[in-house]
Amino acid sequence: MISTILLGTTNRKKIIEMRPLLEPLGYSLVDLSAMPDHVDVAETGNDFIENARLKAITYATRYRTWAIGEDSGLCVPALGGAPGIYSARFARLSQETDSSVTQNAASLTQDEANNALLLERLSNAPTADRSAYYVSTMVLASPEGESIIEAAGECWGRIVSKARGIGGFGYDPLFEVIEYHKTFAELGPSVKNALSHRGRALAKFLRLLVDVKG
Ligand code: IMP
Repeated sequence: MISTILLGTTNRKKIIEMRPLLEPLGYSLVDLSAMPDHVDVAETGNDFIENARLKAITYATRYRTWAIGEDSGLCVPALGGAPGIYSARFARLSQETDSSVTQNAASLTQDEANNALLLERLSNAPTADRSAYYVSTMVLASPEGESIIEAAGECWGRIVSKARGIGGFGYDPLFEVIEYHKTFAELGPSVKNALSHRGRALAKFLRLLVDVKG
């Protein structure tokens, strides 16, 4: 059985969500911040799974260890799937390419700027066009750089017109889980983990992980 796995991310919020799901099963997790000279892998893939594979294989071979690459984001079908794989860079990329973006990014965090842009893009959208889903993809790579497990999870909801709640991260204050009438930022971490794209991807991933011989 594998004992130690490198989680190939520096996103503290992702680490905080994934650690309690993996560690009780006996896996010891280290994250990139513990690794010497770590660099972010450029997300050059065409979809989430390609980016997750890229991260997992790059970190596994660089540090000769078992590594998980995770790539995730929010997709709004009425916006042609945007922000999609560009979720983390949504506002920054828009500012680079679209002079009509009016927000003053200098005074906002990345998450605040992304959320403001999403609200702007959906400002006249009817309820039907506010449907959205999160995607999480997860890849385990061996120390030799082979992709051993690939798993994905989705979670559907709706983009509200005003941010609500203080939990979670990223687009969570805008993402309402319809059955609960609450955003992910209003629901606690245990409810989010049970319903979320990342929780669902991880559940599939863990079912496969127990069979992998380390
Ligand atoms: P990644 O680090 O390249 O996978 O980018 C993930 C981005 O997608 C984050 O920066 C967020 O903008 C968004 N995202 C992914 N998962 C979540 C989530 O659980 N809540 C809120 N935003 C998320």
